[in-house]
Amino acid sequence: MRILIIGAGPAGVTVAETLRLQGDQSEIVMLSSEPFPPYSPPAMVEYFRTGRPVHFWKGEDFPERLHVDYRQGAEAVAVDPEAQTVCLVDGETIPYDRLVLASGGRLYAARLEEFKPGVYNFKSLTAAEELLGRVTRGEARSALIVGAGFIGVEIALLLRRLGVEVTQLVRSRVMREMLDPETSEMVLHTIEREGIKTQRGNDADAVAFVGEPQAEAVEVRSGDVVSADLLVAATGLRPNIEFLEGSGIETDWGVLVDDHLGTNYPNVYAVGDVAETFDRFTGERYVHAIFPNAVAQAQCAAHNLLGWDVAYEGAESMNSLKHLGLPVMAVGRMEGEELRVRRNGVLRKLYLQDDRIVGFRLTGDVSGAGIYRSLMNKQVDVGPFKHRLLQRGFGMGMIEERARTSLFVV
Ligand SMILES: Cc1cc2nc3c(=O)[nH]c(=O)nc-3n(C[C@H](O)[C@H](O)[C@H](O)COP(=O)(O)OP(=O)(O)OC[C@H]3O[C@@H](n4cnc5c(N)ncnc54)[C@H](O)[C@@H]3O)c2cc1C
Repeated sequence: MRILIIGAGPAGVTVAETLRLQGDQSEIVMLSSEPFPPYSPPAMVEYFRTGRPVHFWKGEDFPERLHVDYRQGAEAVAVDPEAQTVCLVDGETIPYDRLVLASGGRLYAARLEEFKPGVYNFKSLTAAEELLGRVTRGEARSALIVGAGFIGVEIALLLRRLGVEVTQLVRSRVMREMLDPETSEMVLHTIEREGIKTQRGNDADAVAFVGEPQAEAVEVRSGDVVSADLLVAATGLRPNIEFLEGSGIETDWGVLVDDHLGTNYPNVYAVGDVAETFDRFTGERYVHAIFPNAVAQAQCAAHNLLGWDVAYEGAESMNSLKHLGLPVMAVGRMEGEELRVRRNGVLRKLYLQDDRIVGFRLTGDVSGAGIYRSLMNKQVDVGPFKHRLLQRGFGMGMIEERARTSLFVV
């Protein structure tokens, strides 16, 4: 049997790895449109900062070790689920018995739909090499970054640490979708202390890249034109689904999947950033584009490829900022009753609905995150010990209590 995996990011790699770990001997063909061994995007910052190839997280010999027929630089341009074939950009047609769509996502902004030449990004290794190449060649001493979401902040910090003068255009606040206003303000002050200049009120919908044919500057909301050696877009995510057009595979924001991560074709699965799954708590369809979801979905789909009949438990919203110097962890929603404590550079917030934790934001001190997440995932009634949730050492107490009562399991 031939399993064809389109994509070699964390999702595609985990599908192959899970199959092999379970002793599956199928022929595995894996495609990546990029000219690299499989890599992990979250490790790219570390790679560009230190030069250590940590982004090749499974080792550059991953395909040989796992007996995967790996085709790098092989872009899928069409899928025919009736004929069970995938067509590549060079015209080759590859037949499959099972297909896994793991093509991830790319940068997107409603108004900046097609980015001009001269606008760089950090969404893929291909894009990051181009961007950082300009810095290492000494061609970029200043950068203007449009967007202050998670990736925008990561790239701003990286460029600053490489000695680039960075200005970041911020919508209303930093990491607006992930952080509450108070936490966001702490992050903003921290990045400004790093020497990054910020300009608020300038989201991707309010700015335009100017210059023809090459972008040379950005016109901001006020009408002013701001220029820099390096123009960087760090806007939203759009799943890579264009090559599925006309295939009959159902898509909306991403590829629509059922609770077994199957598409409307029985032999076709979708996992990772390309898959529109559902939120574990709200049940809403969503693309929570984070590493742990990609890996969990890939494992689930691989088990179903093996015929195990495993249902996906739903995606989580969870993120942490690693390179800020100020630990920040954001999990779940920001609605309902807010419990909050702030002291000496530490801000800890829990959000509760009907005495169940639905989310938390920890800044400066992220201890206890595992316990909060466990309570949240198990929807434990925290009413009886609500007053203790934000006390120092709460996590430790709960570990003992958990052992005693077996109330919940991490
Ligand atoms: C800079 C950065 C930092 C991040 N940091 C974090 C973090 O700290 N924590 C976290 O949880 N998440 C983080 N993320 C998000 C995380 O990287 C993604 O959720 C994860 O990579 C998704 O994995 P994936 O395999 O679905 O997609 P991707 O990693 O995007 O991989 C997609 C693969 O598909 C290939 N491909 C695309 N189209 C085609 C095609 N037509 N034909 C063939 N191949 C194709 C690509 O070449 C690539 O190999 C970060 C992302 C970035 C960019």
